[in-house]
Amino acid sequence: MSGETLQIKNTFATVQDHSRQFSDFTFVYPVISRRSRGLSIGVNLNPDKICNFDCIYCEVDRRLPGKVSQVDLKQMRDELVAMIRFARDGGLAKEPKFNEVPWLTRDVKDIAFSGDGEPTMIHNFAECAQVVAEVKQQEGLAATKLVLITDAAGLDKADVKRGLAIMDAHQGEVWAKLDAGTEAYFRLVNRTSIKFERILKNLLETALARPIVIQSLFLKVHGEAMPAAELDAYCQRLNDIVRAGGRIKEVHAYTVARPTPEAFATKLSAEELQAIARSIGEKTGLKVLAFE
Ligand code: SF4
Repeated sequence: MSGETLQIKNTFATVQDHSRQFSDFTFVYPVISRRSRGLSIGVNLNPDKICNFDCIYCEVDRRLPGKVSQVDLKQMRDELVAMIRFARDGGLAKEPKFNEVPWLTRDVKDIAFSGDGEPTMIHNFAECAQVVAEVKQQEGLAATKLVLITDAAGLDKADVKRGLAIMDAHQGEVWAKLDAGTEAYFRLVNRTSIKFERILKNLLETALARPIVIQSLFLKVHGEAMPAAELDAYCQRLNDIVRAGGRIKEVHAYTVARPTPEAFATKLSAEELQAIARSIGEKTGLKVLAFE
């Protein structure tokens, strides 16, 4: 992990606060992210909070209804331009939320499709990717990445593939979730009707087209960390992707950071997470970064 990332302590209030609400913006929000190594501007394509997973650790509060059900492309574009300029002009640095880390707020490390649900569920992902790519280019953010944070369920949709091709041409990166090695554990943690096999197929196909980042959340379920056999199976799934020609740039291993809706879903200690990350590295030979 770089020295710069180490400076972004997970005890900083702004690192813990990944609120998707900033001022009167609807679609765009700023966060200081350790995984992004600095300022990440989030683009929330799901203010309606719709997701095809129901992860036991999901922090999105679905008891309150979402704000809007459609992405207004013009508003999204205007908000993104305003946020980029606000960051670069030093406006964010003066916000109380960022007063511990003002030096991190001017350089936009990435613009991330993320938010209150699953970005690939919207019907016009490619259009959204196009708008964001245009803004990034127009604002001269050549080094800024375009990141899609996804549960991988929709990576096989034609519209999403078109969006990924646009992202590929603009420093795109796919950060895809994989929290399990078997269908049973997948169902336990991600609670979805989507088949595990489809997720694995989508990960492989996406990794055949460009290197991907795997994001995996490890936690305790009713006090039990992931069983050793499950961790072996998980590593096997990663090895399957690589053996079939898929490229995995790195694995991000993390744990619960904020309160979960299910009291039985709890965080691992830093040592437990580090041990899992080490084990994945040994069994797969992949670069693994742990974010406790
Ligand atoms: S995929 Fe993300 S948004 Fe959807 S339930 Fe899981 S953690 Fe929540």
